Amino acid sequence: MEITNQHAALLCSPGMGHIIPVLELGKRLVTHQNFTVTIFVVPLHTSKAESELLDASAFPHSLDIIKLPSPDISGLVEPDAVVVTRLTEMMRQVRPTFRAALHDMINFRHRCPTMLIVDLFGTESLPIAEEFGIPKYVYIASNAWFLSVMIYSPTLDEQVKGKFVDLKDPLEIPGCRKLFPELDIVDALLDWSNQQYDEHMLMGRGIPKGDGILINIWEELEPKSLAALRDENFLGRFVKVPIFPIGPLMRPNVSSIPRGDVFDWLDKQPNETVIYVSFGSGGALSYEQMVELAWGLEMSQQRFVWVIRPPIISSANETFFTAGNHNGEDDNLTKYLPKGFMGRTKDIGFVIPLWAPQVDVLAHPSVGGFLTHCGWNSTLESITNGVPMIAWPLYAEQRLNATLLTEELGVAVRSKIPPWKNVVKREEIEEMVRKIMEGEEGFALRDRAKNLKFSGAKALEQGGSSYDALSLFTKHANMFVQFANGVDPS
Ligand code: UDP
Repeated sequence: MEITNQHAALLCSPGMGHIIPVLELGKRLVTHQNFTVTIFVVPLHTSKAESELLDASAFPHSLDIIKLPSPDISGLVEPDAVVVTRLTEMMRQVRPTFRAALHDMINFRHRCPTMLIVDLFGTESLPIAEEFGIPKYVYIASNAWFLSVMIYSPTLDEQVKGKFVDLKDPLEIPGCRKLFPELDIVDALLDWSNQQYDEHMLMGRGIPKGDGILINIWEELEPKSLAALRDENFLGRFVKVPIFPIGPLMRPNVSSIPRGDVFDWLDKQPNETVIYVSFGSGGALSYEQMVELAWGLEMSQQRFVWVIRPPIISSANETFFTAGNHNGEDDNLTKYLPKGFMGRTKDIGFVIPLWAPQVDVLAHPSVGGFLTHCGWNSTLESITNGVPMIAWPLYAEQRLNATLLTEELGVAVRSKIPPWKNVVKREEIEEMVRKIMEGEEGFALRDRAKNLKFSGAKALEQGGSSYDALSLFTKHANMFVQFANGVDPS
């Protein structure tokens, strides 16, 4: 273990999907690199799940959480602004409070950070590190395809005339497969007339301004894309700083937690026979799609655990995102399911309202498939348990992840018509569920998922690529500390 006096200040964007990987990075820096860590969180709203996650008693001694007040952005964005626009504006407006909190930490607690790490939406805070004379890093809690798309977006912006959404030909992004804009690319890129497009470009230009980039994958997962990002003839032209693949970082499953009904039920099912259905911290379906999904599951006659949310009003744009507010109604959600569904599926299905202990569910031996919205945390949680997927992307970078999982890594199937465009019909859902749970193709997907599980675990072990990358990151940061202290790092 590297002995350091590093104290990392981590600035975390709102939302469970951001908080979870930042917390895991913080814990790993404490436990594996002897860091002190202070995480600055901007809560979106206080859900029970978020409060539990941020419960300080669950963290190592050297890890502190500071909650910054959520800035009021009501007059700054259009009322119907999409989530990317809202999050970037929140992170922009939080900068003075964050700066003041750093000063307070130094003045009153005599704890001086030696580096700043921001996540995707925090790149506009990188100059704050310069004010404090400390190095700055960007943490991409996603994959190398996503990083490549972000970095290459400003170039595409210059090259492409008109809107990406209207392009018929695929885009060639170094290190990625050819990507069809509408099917495979992050939705923020599709239409330059929406403010989220400009925010996306700002982030794309901001990421390489860090002194290094941490990314939540491991070297062996996407070697070609990482090579392109480091090659000066390709994306290395834009990224002059080192990239440290330090993943897969995700919450450990906690077998000691109080075991609720779902685990009692899972305990009774044979190994690898249950498909888990969930759309991340904020995803929800239209009513029509919920009904089709219910029928598809029932018709497949496969066992399932389904996390249900109230349906969204319309499937236009980003209304698939519910902002993860799970404090509302929770006991009456089955009213949205087809009449008699609960009774007919009582022996094969288990429905959970709003929020499930996902990591533990996916780690349960009975679970053998995951119908997922393809958020990167959920994806890693599936892969690291060797569970194949049905890719059901809804918003943000999920369609890019879905293409990575189906076309490149070969651990998922997906519907012929993208779920964000049209309602996927029950027959196709039945077919996909059967395919991954019992078909020949499913066995092949499962095999590949298990191979990735082992390669990810190996990467984190001592001597593994991610273990070494984290040590290299610490050495990189130590050079700055030595330099600041007048020691010649060479
Ligand atoms: N999650 C959970 N229970 C749920 C839904 C989500 O524990 O019912 C967790 C999930 O395990 C993952 C995170 O919330 O760690 C969602 O992150 P992801 O990147 O998959 O998607 P996002 O919510 O950011 O779209």
